[in-house]
Amino acid sequence: MPAAIRRRSTTRLDRRPPATAPPVRGVRRALLVVERASKEALFDCRMCGQCILHSTGLSCPMRCPKNLRNGPCGGVLQDGRCEVLPDRPCVWVRAWEGSRRLPLWRDHLLHIQKPVDWRLQETSSWENLLTRRDAYAPPGWAAYEGRARP
Ligand code: SF4
Repeated sequence: MPAAIRRRSTTRLDRRPPATAPPVRGVRRALLVVERASKEALFDCRMCGQCILHSTGLSCPMRCPKNLRNGPCGGVLQDGRCEVLPDRPCVWVRAWEGSRRLPLWRDHLLHIQKPVDWRLQETSSWENLLTRRDAYAPPGWAAYEGRARP
């Protein structure tokens, strides 16, 4: 996407929480509906608006009851089940297994993910990717990332 268009679309974004923002209309609405329908069916997506499925072996990290996006907690049971929801496998065990099967992005599992921007909840991650709305990180994180990834 050309930088000028990206800049314009990013500055025009409504950054209000979805609950208080006006309804999404037109193409944006269509994108949201298609994304929700397809990804909820395929990945049990929770519409966090900042998708990292390609980094997690196509296992949605937001299904973790602790919303962990950087690997499992210390409570994974020995057979790979979740300590909070023991009737389910740990999403991070599934992430590891899934990442080994991916032809691409295997090593992205090792990427450290920035904190979740909860303002994007219930918005389209596709739109947020195109507009770079999902690129926001708190200042402290940006400083950390600059140090961690020279
Ligand atoms: S990471 Fe976010 S957008 Fe991607 S599948 Fe999970 S909840 Fe949905």
